[in-house]
Order: sequence, then C-alpha cells, then structure tokens
Amino acid sequence: MSKPTCYSVKAFGTSAPSSPLGAMAIERRQPTPADVQIEILYCGVCHSDLHFARNEWGFTQYPAVPGHEIVGRVKAVGSAVTKFKAGDTVGVGCLVDSCRTCPSCRAGFEQYCDSGLMGGTYGGWDKHLNAPTLGGYSQHIVVDENYVLRIPAGLDLAATAPLLCAGITTYSPLRHWKVGPGQKVGVVGLGGLGHMAVKFARAFGAHVVLFTTSPGKVADAKRVGAHDVVVSTDEKQMAAHAGSFDFILDAVSAQHDVNAYLNLLKRDGNMTLVGAPEKPLPVASFPLLMRRRSLSGSLIGGLPETQEMLDFCGQHGITADIEMIRMDQINDAYERMLKSDVKYRFVIDMASLK
Ligand SMILES: [Zn+2]
Ligand SMILES: [Zn+2]
Repeated sequence: MSKPTCYSVKAFGTSAPSSPLGAMAIERRQPTPADVQIEILYCGVCHSDLHFARNEWGFTQYPAVPGHEIVGRVKAVGSAVTKFKAGDTVGVGCLVDSCRTCPSCRAGFEQYCDSGLMGGTYGGWDKHLNAPTLGGYSQHIVVDENYVLRIPAGLDLAATAPLLCAGITTYSPLRHWKVGPGQKVGVVGLGGLGHMAVKFARAFGAHVVLFTTSPGKVADAKRVGAHDVVVSTDEKQMAAHAGSFDFILDAVSAQHDVNAYLNLLKRDGNMTLVGAPEKPLPVASFPLLMRRRSLSGSLIGGLPETQEMLDFCGQHGITADIEMIRMDQINDAYERMLKSDVKYRFVIDMASLK
C-alpha cells in the first residue's frame, strides 16, 4: 500500500504519561477511495481516554490523541464511497478498522476480531500511514466508510456523541441477554455507562433497579429512568432482592464485591461486566453453583449493532446526559471524572479547538 499524502490539523494530545494534554498538530491522510473525511463537531470523554493518555494499560505510543465518541459532518468522500456524501451527519466509535475476514468480522462482531489487528480509533494501527491511530480530540478524522455510522435526524448532536462508546457498551449486552418486558434488570453504578444502561433497559420494557453506593444519587437515578434504587452498602436493602433478578449489568470500574450481586440473580440469571477494574475480582463458586448463575463480560459492539443502537436512539429520543466543555478544559475534566464528578458524560465542543 503506497502512503497517501497527508495534511495537518489541530488536535489535543500528550507526549508523555505524566504530561497534561495540550494543543498539537497532527497529520491526517487525504481520503483514499474508500475513505470519509469528517469534520469533528463533538467528542465525548470516555474513562478509556484517560487510561490511554496516561499509559495505564501499558501500550500507549506517544504522541497520543484520545477520543472515540465522535460526531461530525462529512467534508469529502473518496471515489469508491457509496454510503455517505458531503454534508451527512456521521459518527465514529471505538473502531476504525479490523481484519474484515475472520469469523468475528464476517459476523459483524469486529470488536472481537480474531486477527489481533487492533483497529482502535486511537492506539490502534493505521495501515495507510504505518503509524498508531490518533483519536477524536482533533478537527478532522479520516475513516474507511465501513467504520462510519449514520446519525439519525432529530437527536441533539453533542448528547449523541457518548452513544458511540458508552451507549453501545451497554446496549450490546442488554440485547445479547435478551432483556425485555416482564424481566427484572439491575444496573450497578450510575456513571457514564450506568446511566445509559438504565435508559436502554427501561426502553426495552424491563423493570429497572439501579444499585449505587451513594444515597445522594437515588433521585437522579429515578429521573434517568430507574423504577427502583438500592443503596448497595445497606445489607437489608440488598437482602430484600436476593434471587430475584433475571440480569444484572455491572458497569463499575473500581474494585467491588461481585458476589453480593451474583446472589441477587434468579436461577439461570446472568451478570455481565462492562467495567474493567485494575485488579482481578475475587469470585466465589457458591453464588454461581447455586441456581446455575453465570458471570460474563462484554466489549463495546460491532458496526452493525452500533448502527442498530443509533437508529433505536433516534426512534426513542435517547441520548446521554452531558456536560459540555471546551477543549482546553480537558485536564480539569479528567480530574473531575476520577472523582465521578460528572453528570454523566463530558462532551468537548470541538469548535473550541479552532
Ligand atoms: Zn470508551
Ligand atoms: Zn477480524
């Protein structure tokens, strides 16, 4: 593959794990025949952005530009692009590439690509430039049309950005485990992921119970859509729900006791983890053996399901609850995110980068 010509755009990133994010110039490729060139309007701030900027997963190459909750407008398309045209409102999530030939990719589960080729929007590998991919804290991004999503009309665009990671991360397991009417569904944690899980589970027709350690979040959880709220540090409240849940989505990234939640599942109930605590979580056998319960995980979603999720949000008017920030407020936003001091997702107004 010959290297396409490039052009320079403004971005916000970092050159070392301990450095704050700051303005920088980065190269984007001129669109190849299969590419869509996107002017970024809004970019959500995911906890992964912070892990990545600070090399907390150990694979960050610098300079690093985070951002994988991207909403923008198509500026130009390559000669072979059929699905998009200039002026379209589009989204880009966590993936900009995958091998496209393995069983997972063929089935539309690109997030589980078997090839080991990591097509991440940042920290992945750009085959065209032979360089690490750079994310959405930038003016433009250039992406193969197969990894670009349509944004349905009528949604607030800033509040739509977090759907591209927080939204699909919670939508996918709720769909996989067939959450629907007549079921009792738990969501652990009311953060960026948890508040989306509550909205989706409610829209799917389930009875939704939110678990939180903060009594101060009870009213807000109900406003977001929970039928019931359990303060998880209150053993009496927890015991009252023993053996009663069909499904629990655990969206907590901090260390916590998963066994307390496994005990709340019915026979054949499932709990799925979407958070990623730093250290392994101790899991006791008995809560699983009793009632044949299962514990599983789930990672974002593939391109077809992400489009399905966006279309569902368009039909039902679902978006994230956000706090808009300027690009130069990102370092403060990271510190606030570490304290869970955000309701419930920061979104960067990319006009502030100009
Ligand atoms: Zn994310
Ligand atoms: Zn693959």
